[in-house]
Amino acid sequence: MVKQKVVLRFPPNIVEQPTIYMLIKDFDLMVNILRADINPRKEGRLMMEISGEEANYQKAMTWLKKQGLSVMNLEQQIIWRSDRCTHCGACTVICPTAALNFERPDMVVRFEEDKCIVCELCLRACPARAMETLVDNSNFR
Ligand code: SF4
Ligand code: SF4
Repeated sequence: MVKQKVVLRFPPNIVEQPTIYMLIKDFDLMVNILRADINPRKEGRLMMEISGEEANYQKAMTWLKKQGLSVMNLEQQIIWRSDRCTHCGACTVICPTAALNFERPDMVVRFEEDKCIVCELCLRACPARAMETLVDNSNFR
């Protein structure tokens, strides 16, 4: 079994195709959509968790790339610059999944990447600019 969070980016010409349906039907995968930015006739982006048999997952990733989609691991999309962090805690209040949280008893902030859903709320909340993203948002503004 494999369970992986990924970011799919759809070029405009295939944004309206039933890609998720195909992942479920043809590759027997389970798909949990974490966030979707879909605009008809523009580039689309889906952040989701995919689980299933390893062989099916690999075949599906190959198929997605052949369709012209880009696939990236979601864990690598948000970066915490610990050297800039002042442990003020502002991000822990707004992080919806508690990926940013206080570690007790020292009460220092830590970032648990596997809980992050790339909502990007922490980017705006952090006064020290300690949170960064590798996601190119230029087509979504
Ligand atoms: S991007 Fe969202 S889920 Fe991830 S750490 Fe920041 S606030 Fe939390
Ligand atoms: S808001 Fe920024 S500086 Fe404050 S704890 Fe979070 S990451 Fe660190």
